[in-house]
Amino acid sequence: MAVARRTARDIRSDSRLDVLHAVLSAAEITRNELVQATGLSPATVATVVGELITAGILVETKMSVGLVGRPTATLGMNGAGGRVVGIDVAETYVRAVLFDTALNQLGFVEVERDEHFLTPELMVEAIGEALDMVLEQERVARDDVRGVGVSLPGLVHGSAGVSVLVPHWAWRTVDLDHLRERVALPLVIDNPLKAIATAELWLGRGRFCPNLVTVNLGTGVGAAIVLDGQIARGSTNSAGEWGHSLLALDGRECRCGRRGCVEAYVGAPGILRTLSEIAPDHPLVAMELQRDVIGAMARAIESPEPDDAVRETIARTAYYLGSALADLVAVVNPQAVTLTGWTAWALGAHMLPAVREHVAAQSPGQSADALELELSTVKGNSVATGVATIALERFLADAGLITTRIPIAL
Ligand SMILES: [Zn+2]
Repeated sequence: MAVARRTARDIRSDSRLDVLHAVLSAAEITRNELVQATGLSPATVATVVGELITAGILVETKMSVGLVGRPTATLGMNGAGGRVVGIDVAETYVRAVLFDTALNQLGFVEVERDEHFLTPELMVEAIGEALDMVLEQERVARDDVRGVGVSLPGLVHGSAGVSVLVPHWAWRTVDLDHLRERVALPLVIDNPLKAIATAELWLGRGRFCPNLVTVNLGTGVGAAIVLDGQIARGSTNSAGEWGHSLLALDGRECRCGRRGCVEAYVGAPGILRTLSEIAPDHPLVAMELQRDVIGAMARAIESPEPDDAVRETIARTAYYLGSALADLVAVVNPQAVTLTGWTAWALGAHMLPAVREHVAAQSPGQSADALELELSTVKGNSVATGVATIALERFLADAGLITTRIPIAL
């Protein structure tokens, strides 16, 4: 079997990535602290920091003078190095988020989409419009944009090229070319799970856990999987579709056409179905929008007035989620599992203790003994943040500073 040999260039690139990840997660850090955080030698840290300062990626933010010795410089990311945009494309909205090159969020716009009109032409226009709007709103010249990242659900890399496979979207490679023309800036495109995995690697638990799963809980459900510090993509970039793995044989119908998928129980519509099974006449069952119901459930559980139906729904959802996670943990054997997505933000804290118990009780052997199960620490919309991070990674790769780990050349 051929083993990929790491070249001197790869090692230098890895050192730069280690330093960048450490600076990003610490916000401000000294060279000595970088040596501690990365395990690199002081000489390597000094060289790499020098290169990144010369390239305008890092800056010395302040000098502090101790009682003895020379003044110590504090390092940070150079936010003045330009702008990057992350765009999260969903069925019901397109959200464009503007970041500086230190990945600080500066502003965003959200364009509502009518989910019944999803032709590629209209979606390309909505993406272009959201980009134009956020640049105008934040008064950013296009010349200052270092990269744009677009997250498209269902983006896969098949033998016929890259395409978008969402049942009623049916995008082809040619439509992605139209998107490139409309954006007319350096562009990367990836799917949401890979965006979330990147955000977790650069800004979240991934810095400390080379084997990690981040579960995205929203309308749909997926797992962003990081193995040995690398994002697991699979042969067609569709690894992580855990939402359509089996939780209950001959169980609830899923929108994918199968029965008993994880998503049919822990996706937002699945949670609402559980509530309607427990209390068909509960006032929340009649609410129209998923996001409103999940938000109302969070308020109900936090309120001093007991709402037994909501409490029971959350307990059952924790049981479903813990049971499904036990399988995932058994297969992947991660050090940590983090939860993200709008359902996780609303209900995650209320479910975590019970989910931990169910995972521990159902995982085979000792696979979950040392497992850390937490909410993700990545702030804001992790899909937009992640795909902006991929755009920044591509910019750094094009500048010759790192070897990109993005296999999709889009
Ligand atoms: Zn399914």
